[in-house]
Amino acid sequence: MKDFSDIWGFLREEALPPGVLHIVATPIGNLEDITLRALRVLAGAELIAAEDTRRTGLLLKAYGLKKPMVSCFAHNEEAQSRRIVSALAEGKAVALVSDAGLPGISDPGARLVRQALQAGIEISVIPGPSAGLTALAASGLDTEAFAFGGFIPRDGKGRKAWLERFGSFAGTLIVYESPRRLEATLLMLMEAWGDRKCCVARELTKRYEEFIRGSLSEVHGRLSGAGGVKGEIVLILEGRPFPDREKLSREEASARGEELVAEGLGIKEASRRLAEESGISAKECYAMLTKASEDAKMS
Ligand code: SAM
Repeated sequence: MKDFSDIWGFLREEALPPGVLHIVATPIGNLEDITLRALRVLAGAELIAAEDTRRTGLLLKAYGLKKPMVSCFAHNEEAQSRRIVSALAEGKAVALVSDAGLPGISDPGARLVRQALQAGIEISVIPGPSAGLTALAASGLDTEAFAFGGFIPRDGKGRKAWLERFGSFAGTLIVYESPRRLEATLLMLMEAWGDRKCCVARELTKRYEEFIRGSLSEVHGRLSGAGGVKGEIVLILEGRPFPDREKLSREEASARGEELVAEGLGIKEASRRLAEESGISAKECYAMLTKASEDAKMS
């Protein structure tokens, strides 16, 4: 492992404000992806709450640090959070880290943050890498609107609810997945939502970083042809395609609207139907049909 301990020639240790919980992002693979501020906070913290103390110990060691640590992982987070909040209330400066990336993002941390907030503890965050956003930035898919889907639930009921929750979202979707389940997941998504574009980001920031881009079926074909995939994976998936904008021109829509009203539909229902058929918003259709009906009364 690399040794960065001489970085302290450039960094000055600083006392941290007492009783603040610092959420610290750590590398997702490449140990160099840690901010100077994160190092200062880790060096200044009186206690580090870590998902896995052994793993965080290796990170600290690489930077020449040794600190008191307490574990805070999925199965002890509730109880440990109470202890950590007590330490904060006594005035200790605490840093919270997970194994990789941002604590609380598909990782322990969110419960501790909530408990700390309830106890009136100040929270500070030291930003840094997170696998989802890192993959999104390199995916080539739309980055203007996106949602984080976390891990897709494995049980049928949970998966169905997940598909319903995200299926109609028109922005890009960020999904964490294990390499073992990736191929089955690509097929499942293709069956549920059609052959959307995607990008599999593998081993981000590490030696074998790789991006596999294409439609779900193309990427699936490449992976199964290569005998599967190894390493850590983020799947970036194109959102639900936008409905065809304005399938009818304004004149066509106006004529169709009049037909619907002549068939006996009220303006509200006719507007709803017209919006579906034309791609024009229901509000605009309503305004169009109301005006047409008023014009008809006046003539
Ligand atoms: N807290 C982390 C973050 O901010 O990204 C996520 C933790 S979650 C338990 C771990 C998952 O993140 C992995 O299963 C994988 O889906 C994704 N991940 C983490 N590091 C990665 C990397 N270097 N390359 C690709 N995916 C990664």
